Amino acid sequence: MIRKYIFVAGGVMSGVGKGVAASSIARILKDSGYHVTAFKIDPYVNVDAGTMNPTEHGEVFVLNDGTECDQDMGNYERFLEEDLSGGNYMTTGSVYLSVIQKERNLGYEGKCVEVVPHVPLAVIEKIQKALHRTHADIGVIEIGGTIGEYQNIVFLEAVRMLQQQHPNDVTLVLVSYLPLLNKDNELKTKPTQYAVRTLNSAGLQPDFILARSAHPIDLKRKQKIAFNCNMSEESIVAAPDVGSIYDIPLNFKRAHLDTLLLRKLHIRRRTDTSDAWKQFISRTAHTTSTVRIGIVGKYFSSGAFMLADSYLSVIEALRHAGFAQRSAVAFDWIDAGAFDPSETSRADVSKNLERLRGYDGIVVPGGFGARGIEGKIEAIAYARREGIPFLGLCYGMQLAVVEYARHVIGLAGAHTVEVDAHTPYPVVDVMPDQKELIARNRLGGTMRLGAFPACIQKGTIAYHAYVHAPRFAQAARGKKSSMSSHAQDLVISERHRHRYEINPDYHQALRDAGLIISGISPSGKLAEIIELPPSVHPFFVGTQFHPELRSWPLDPHPLFKKFIAAAHARRQLSA
Ligand code: GLN
Repeated sequence: MIRKYIFVAGGVMSGVGKGVAASSIARILKDSGYHVTAFKIDPYVNVDAGTMNPTEHGEVFVLNDGTECDQDMGNYERFLEEDLSGGNYMTTGSVYLSVIQKERNLGYEGKCVEVVPHVPLAVIEKIQKALHRTHADIGVIEIGGTIGEYQNIVFLEAVRMLQQQHPNDVTLVLVSYLPLLNKDNELKTKPTQYAVRTLNSAGLQPDFILARSAHPIDLKRKQKIAFNCNMSEESIVAAPDVGSIYDIPLNFKRAHLDTLLLRKLHIRRRTDTSDAWKQFISRTAHTTSTVRIGIVGKYFSSGAFMLADSYLSVIEALRHAGFAQRSAVAFDWIDAGAFDPSETSRADVSKNLERLRGYDGIVVPGGFGARGIEGKIEAIAYARREGIPFLGLCYGMQLAVVEYARHVIGLAGAHTVEVDAHTPYPVVDVMPDQKELIARNRLGGTMRLGAFPACIQKGTIAYHAYVHAPRFAQAARGKKSSMSSHAQDLVISERHRHRYEINPDYHQALRDAGLIISGISPSGKLAEIIELPPSVHPFFVGTQFHPELRSWPLDPHPLFKKFIAAAHARRQLSA
């Protein structure tokens, strides 16, 4: 049995792509014939990412088992093409919680429980369990934060302890950054040297440095780092900026990082299955068209970078679907406030709505709370009336239902109780079990979270999408026998993160008014997908779940594919 550990830590500064580097390492080793899993250590005291604001911490990613976690878990899944579980994710809060619970259960048998060694030992135990459970030969473990920060010290201590016990099985990769002060200047190595010294003071020596920089590190700089940090030149690997994150595994392969890592871990390449990734890259290198997608959300005081980070999976899913169509996807962030009569004058609202006509598709992604809501509803109404392809994700679907109830059924004042607790027509409501949790302020990890099955109605857009997507249908197959009479012959599984639902009392009224509930929970109570028939609108679809969380570059999500295809068709019509 092989059990190897590759730790990936970051030096100099955050945001240099540690998660993508870890994912790419996992991918190239998987393509060398090993079973690889990836594990994220998040240094926050939050027990999970569910309580973190996405504009601070980035998107909250959700796994099949309902774990709310860091967006890097999404990168691992996309690069490894595997579903992961909460056993592969840890925060400072969760590890301390497990140590404290063990202590409360007399699990330490009367010993004084100390930060060291007990916390690092709990870290090691959880990592080892994850490798065991996933039958992984190799675990790639990303340590969040930046070397030198107080908060990741116990995790570095865990690496040191594990390495001390298994010197041939543990390797440490430092993802560092070499700044370039001006265009003609050299890449600066000093911050990297200091990061290595800080690691040294934690009893660790990196085995590899991935040198992130604007352009590839030259030999002279490699020699400088090697000389000053006690390393060989070949263990300093260039990791320059790239156009697409999906190029990185092949860049690492070209730099022989897979061979170097395997050698360091005393194992050999078993095979080379990198052709699929190579073909994907060459297939997508040349796009033949560009579709323009407007993403309507509540954006305030956030730069474009933060927005991209908060909606990472949505963007990736759109890009993946673009690849399938050989289309590049251009995004615009559109603040819903621009369509909200309480924030913008009536005349400007109309002008702003008119501008939506220039888009090939409109997405209203997930969200929470009241701000920007009327603007989103206006944008959805415009997309529906003007036949602009529309995809509503979670809150986006709930608001599409509010819009439909108000403007098509004629229920003035219809709303979600999340925004208006006293609406005369609560078309989106909170379920009884959730009501109780809210009343008791039990808000962490208590939404409807993770994978749930949905039955898909034949002949619908959803059916045509999913029927050719076995990965989504497969996951629910085992549960099919327990389905009620609502079960159709296609059952899918998708990931959720929400507290509110389309109120079942209004299903019939919505249907009578022409809205199709094309996906529904096996109980028949919870609407999972809504859509309009193609005779009425080219593509108007909303999902209560988050399809973006399950899209992979080599296997894009079927609903996103249909959406981008509809956007592409609109583009061609207007050309
Ligand atoms: N706020 C809505 C709910 O809780 C939607 C959540 C979301 O979009 N993820 O149901």
